[in-house]
Amino acid sequence: MRKKIVAGNWKMNCLQEEGQKLTSEIVNMIKDEPTADVTVVLNPPYVHLHAVNKLIAGVDRLHLGGQNCSDQASGAYTGEISASMLASFGASYVIIGHSERRQYFNETNELLTAKTRQALDNGLQPIFCCGEPLEIREAGTHEAYVKEQLTASLFNFSEEELKKIVIAYEPIWAIGTGKTASSDQAQDMHAAIRKHLAGKYGDAAANEISILYGGSCKPDNAKEIFSKTDVDGGLIGGASLKSRDFVAIIQSF
Ligand code: PEP
Repeated sequence: MRKKIVAGNWKMNCLQEEGQKLTSEIVNMIKDEPTADVTVVLNPPYVHLHAVNKLIAGVDRLHLGGQNCSDQASGAYTGEISASMLASFGASYVIIGHSERRQYFNETNELLTAKTRQALDNGLQPIFCCGEPLEIREAGTHEAYVKEQLTASLFNFSEEELKKIVIAYEPIWAIGTGKTASSDQAQDMHAAIRKHLAGKYGDAAANEISILYGGSCKPDNAKEIFSKTDVDGGLIGGASLKSRDFVAIIQSF
């Protein structure tokens, strides 16, 4: 059985009290509820890590993650946060290669390999993002594009390392736009990703990897998307900032 995961990416949102209120609401809503086999990851901005970690303590399936980490271990890199720091603040996951990082901060496939290496070496599970822009989808070359992102960044890792990585397929044209991929589009891409991983690492390893869908996932479409065979959960942006919506998405499994 693959791990079902719903991860919330708060992006650059929430002042101090807002982050604590959001976390407390989520904790209160899910601590006793039945979809307990769904792993939930909160990925707040760095400044919230300590407080969120304290608030989620005691709810086993709630985990903490970063939204990014440095490709360097430590040292004179002003403004950067290392994977080991995230781990020391209680994080067990980190988002790597979100399309906003690739687009606005020029993160390349090579850099993302180094960040993934840092995450793995410090005991964090990378949530590795991939996904095509609209023009690639319209040209019909989206599968080749996404496979190349994965090959370029991940295919030098060992099988044991790969099994610790969570993949998030996020078509860029669906992020924050209100335009979701159809459940069939998501399934087709997730199956293609799994086949691609199997081609390099074998079926058994590929079948263990959780592949999340991200892109305008909301309470009203999550159930349909999560019903697909190769969709193992979601990476949620906007809807993760509203406790009711986020919890409704978790309960869509
Ligand atoms: C994201 O940025 O990871 C994301 C999926 O955003 P949204 O849900 O807002 O489309």
